[in-house]
Amino acid sequence: MIEQKALFIDGGFEAPSSAESITVIGAATGDPIGCVPAAAPADVDRAVAAARRAMAPGSAWTGWDAQARADLLDRLADEVEARGGTVAPLVAQQNGMPVTTAMAVEVALPAAVYRYYADLLRDTTFSEIRPGILGGSVRVDRVPVGVIGAIVPWNYPNLLTAFKVAPAIAAGCSVVIKPSPETVLDTYEFAEAVLAAGVPAGVLNIVPGGAEIGEYLVGHPGIDKVTFTGSTAVGRRIGARCGELLRPVTLELGGKSAAILLEDVDLAASAEGLFQATLINNGQTCVANTRILAPRSRYDETVEFFAELSRGAAIGDPLDPTTLIGPLATARQRDRVEGHIARGLADGARLVVGGGRPASLERGWFIEPTVFADVDPASALAQEEIFGPVLSVMPYDGVDEAIALANDSAYGLAGTVWTSDPTAAEAISSAIDSGTFGINYFMLDPVAPFGGTKASGLGRELGPEGLEACLRPRSTYSAV
Ligand code: NAD
Repeated sequence: MIEQKALFIDGGFEAPSSAESITVIGAATGDPIGCVPAAAPADVDRAVAAARRAMAPGSAWTGWDAQARADLLDRLADEVEARGGTVAPLVAQQNGMPVTTAMAVEVALPAAVYRYYADLLRDTTFSEIRPGILGGSVRVDRVPVGVIGAIVPWNYPNLLTAFKVAPAIAAGCSVVIKPSPETVLDTYEFAEAVLAAGVPAGVLNIVPGGAEIGEYLVGHPGIDKVTFTGSTAVGRRIGARCGELLRPVTLELGGKSAAILLEDVDLAASAEGLFQATLINNGQTCVANTRILAPRSRYDETVEFFAELSRGAAIGDPLDPTTLIGPLATARQRDRVEGHIARGLADGARLVVGGGRPASLERGWFIEPTVFADVDPASALAQEEIFGPVLSVMPYDGVDEAIALANDSAYGLAGTVWTSDPTAAEAISSAIDSGTFGINYFMLDPVAPFGGTKASGLGRELGPEGLEACLRPRSTYSAV
């Protein structure tokens, strides 16, 4: 059992101001695996004050040039990678992510994000002179937006922290991170990485807590910008609060993306890619393509293919490197997913495989990979984000209907097309209303802006666009 006694604030581990604590429960066992102090409002005040001191004119951090910040990001990438052997199993134990996936997306990928922003920074200029058209000249500077409040969910805690922290450091901002209580243990490893990399005091601070502390951070007068990843319901609330405060906000929210299979799809050859696109991290993935659209001529074959994919996926201990499907993160999440399955059955969808808790696994929040066929596209099963290993396979007649079905969603985060015809793939890609799209593959890339349309959110992370979101332009007019 891990026991932490302090909070990472102002470049060190400080005593918390209250005796409240957060107990983290192992997803595969239901047993407590660690305990950390819960930040109280007074701790958030201290963290924000430290982050503001880091941004004050004349502070050490504001004197760091782009090259120094780039070098810092490279060191942070190294330190994150060096702790991978500890972090990946911790993530697996907390949220059920299979450890092999965790090594890839919670260690290697975050390190790649830090390194990407280091490289981008070496190629970025933050100041530009424009000849004025009214006689004078103008210098346009892009300055750090200030202190960023970053709220991180539990499904990809280290990756999504990197999405927020890497561009913030690149821009010269400071950050107060509020991790999810469900996955707070690994943030102590991150804090160690931050210290070892030489991040100056106050630039990164961590305040563990739930919704209340999140709300307190979002509305804190010392915060200049908020970045949030999580549910659409909470995102709307945060967006409304930021609107009231006229505080810039980036919102990465839910999804219900569609995988469109064309007539010529080679299912067997696409099996690995389709698994990644639909069931990675036990379906606890905002970009999961949980609506599978198959041409009617190949519908039965597609239903059977996904049933086989699900039956064949090794389910069990997330610490076992051969596991493909682990437990869900929490009992509450498992209950939610069971609720969606029950509703799907009540609405008349046909259960092909799964639908319950695996008989062989008595402990933990496991749900069998589940495939539904004959799903009404208007039903809750086809419309609501489930965030578990539950797929709906639906038939379509003609590509226009496939596009209409894919776009018939409140969300617009991702989507894929599977075909050997590049022209058809591009035509479908351009017809789908989503922030990202994949052709025979879906994987986020640090170089490309990531985010959604409609109820999937506002703004973009990653790419130069993610850096831009941590900057604001400032114009200085000169007589000459
Ligand atoms: P959530 O949106 O409640 O939590 C995400 C983060 O926001 C956590 O750090 C949480 O502590 C914090 N938070 C919660 N309420 C807040 C508030 N009012 N103000 C500020 N911060 C707040 O997500 P959840 O309840 O853990 O999961 C519910 C559903 O959300 C899931 O079933 C899934 O559909 C969706 N979800 C999506 C993502 C994503 O990556 N887009 C991540 C997690 C959950």
